[in-house]
Amino acid sequence: MNGIERDVIVVGAGPAGSICSAYLAKAGVDVLLLDKEIFPRDKACGDMITEKFVRHANQLEITDRLDKMSVFVNQLLMVSDGGREALVPYECYGTKRRELDQLLVETAVNWGAEFRPGCRVTGLIHELGKVCGVKVLTGGAETEIRAKVVIGADGALSIVAKEAGLMREAAGAMSIGMSAYFEGVRLDRNIAIGQYSAYGAVFFDRTFAPGYLWILPSGDGGVLRGYCNVGMVVDYADGSRKSHRNLEQRFEDWLSRSTRGSSMLSGARRVSPWRKGKQTYITQNMKKTAAGLILIGDASSSMLPLRGDGLSAAADTARAAADTAWEALKQNDFSDALLHHYYRSHQILMDGAELEDELKRIYLIRESMFDPQGVDQAVETIRKNQALAKEIL
Ligand SMILES: Cc1cc2nc3c(=O)[nH]c(=O)nc-3n(C[C@H](O)[C@H](O)[C@H](O)COP(=O)(O)OP(=O)(O)OC[C@H]3O[C@@H](n4cnc5c(N)ncnc54)[C@H](O)[C@@H]3O)c2cc1C
Repeated sequence: MNGIERDVIVVGAGPAGSICSAYLAKAGVDVLLLDKEIFPRDKACGDMITEKFVRHANQLEITDRLDKMSVFVNQLLMVSDGGREALVPYECYGTKRRELDQLLVETAVNWGAEFRPGCRVTGLIHELGKVCGVKVLTGGAETEIRAKVVIGADGALSIVAKEAGLMREAAGAMSIGMSAYFEGVRLDRNIAIGQYSAYGAVFFDRTFAPGYLWILPSGDGGVLRGYCNVGMVVDYADGSRKSHRNLEQRFEDWLSRSTRGSSMLSGARRVSPWRKGKQTYITQNMKKTAAGLILIGDASSSMLPLRGDGLSAAADTARAAADTAWEALKQNDFSDALLHHYYRSHQILMDGAELEDELKRIYLIRESMFDPQGVDQAVETIRKNQALAKEIL
């Protein structure tokens, strides 16, 4: 393939890269999707898919398949540090990431994208101030592939963002977490009786402050078998207050303290390794385009802190980047000015005063998570006034 220029190369076949490739291929664009892994592969995640993400599944005509491989969760049991509980309405899918990511890669290929697994991108090719391709390591051999537009979808540790000089990780704008699957979790039969009446539990415990732990039924039949995704994320709010190591030890500590947690997990067994991962949060300073280059998904740090809906941000940015690349190809203009203008015009990425206000609000909530009594009080208030839950979740 050396010497042939592709229209678009997408680096990373996670949800952002696969969805972007699917949209591009659907619009008739020549797109090459690369990933260092062999699929199917797993990834640390809570498996929680919100409505925003499902809208993209609709547009890519895979809602039926998504539905079949998911649990539909319609309530969240919020549990505070002191054991207070509030059951609130909350809708999401619980879908195993291994299956979701495989479905999305297949969708990109079905729409006409070319997918090459086992291809690690090691760098970018620059010419005359423009990104014009990638260096790829495949089976020990390094090759170069050129493209009019490169889309970086290679996750939170993006090599593409780093190579392009776009990585601007603000201190505190990240969290770390881990997840694993458990079988035989005891779900309360009064609130989890089938695929369409499942609940997930979220624990706001001092062990993870500022952060949370979840137990979420996942995958087709998850409720019946008590097959759940169990995981936690801890915000990097202030390194001096909490160490971000020893998540497994902290999980054990939580389990020994939490009455509800130990009752749900007694008799359950972990059936996968713990997988660790990092989430990068939206900041004012991170630039997401350069000449010939667009960043999407986790590579673009587009998620709001504490929200946990990285998959929706991945899908939204994927759609915006696909439209932007399509416009650039139409106008044969791959300048940063054009890419920035069209990417921004989607208004999926908050910025300026709006972002500042939202971040202030979220950081206030995050700060209050350090106070166990405050968390107890908050859950009690939500129990009495469920409308509040909608505002916070
Ligand atoms: C513990 C945890 C729990 C989470 N829970 C949720 C949740 O419940 N709901 C939710 O919406 N979000 C959740 N998130 C966030 C969500 O997982 C991410 O936002 C989402 O995976 C972003 O998708 P992506 O495609 O941008 O990146 P990724 O899913 O990370 O995909 C990146 C891809 O790029 C590939 N790649 C990386 N480097 C290279 C390279 N050099 N060359 C080629 N390929 C490369 C990788 O193999 C990978 O396939 C969670 C994150 C963590 C860490």
